[in-house]
Amino acid sequence: MSIAANLSELNKELGSYNVKLIAVSKTKSNEEIMEAYNAGQKVFGENQVQELVDKYEKLPKDIEWHLIGHLQTNKVKYIAPFISLIHSVDSLKLLIEINKQAAKQNRIIDCLLQIYIADEDTKYGLGYDEAIELLRSEEYAEMKNIRITGVMGIATNTGVEKQLRDEFYELKVLFDGLKQSFFRKDDYFKEISMGMSADYKIAIEQGSTMIRVGSTIFGSRITPHWKNN
Ligand SMILES: *Cc1c(COP(=O)(O)O)cnc(C)c1O
Repeated sequence: MSIAANLSELNKELGSYNVKLIAVSKTKSNEEIMEAYNAGQKVFGENQVQELVDKYEKLPKDIEWHLIGHLQTNKVKYIAPFISLIHSVDSLKLLIEINKQAAKQNRIIDCLLQIYIADEDTKYGLGYDEAIELLRSEEYAEMKNIRITGVMGIATNTGVEKQLRDEFYELKVLFDGLKQSFFRKDDYFKEISMGMSADYKIAIEQGSTMIRVGSTIFGSRITPHWKNN
């Protein structure tokens, strides 16, 4: 099926849910992205800074770009002028740098805390305690140019549905806890970014508000990028 047809199917399926679709375009060409764009998709996710910046420069300016992969502090400055949402904040040090670069751009950058939920040691993310520690820190209290709008998680790469369901449930419970403890009055803290091509249905059932879908839209990648990232 074509990219446009894949998108149309997916959007039909998502129709009744309040879930935002992030089209994950890593490794895909500008032509392929334009095919999705012309079919109405305006939100795209990338996991590598250089690739993201190249695409941002060449593609239409009304695209909303999300960074979904691990971000090194020394690269924050390249995306700070335009990034809409960083899904992958996994340390206080990184958040401090995002705040600093956002200030230079006179922007407030929305961020998600990436939480470690998978049963694999290859994935980045904060543990529950680390997330709380970050939110209690004096450094965070003083930040004026970032806004934490929710959490993100990557489930284990497994076909075992019960495990996926448990991991997504865990993230939802954690989100609810953080909301109660730190963001009770903040309407903007509302996002749970969870679910990819293989598991988005389960993620939605467990309360996802944003799914990050690549291969279901664009077809499979030669090497899954996130595996060597
Ligand atoms: C690549 C990637 C996705 C999309 O993966 P698909 O299986 O192609 O849908 C989602 N989230 C992250 C963090 C990724 O790196």
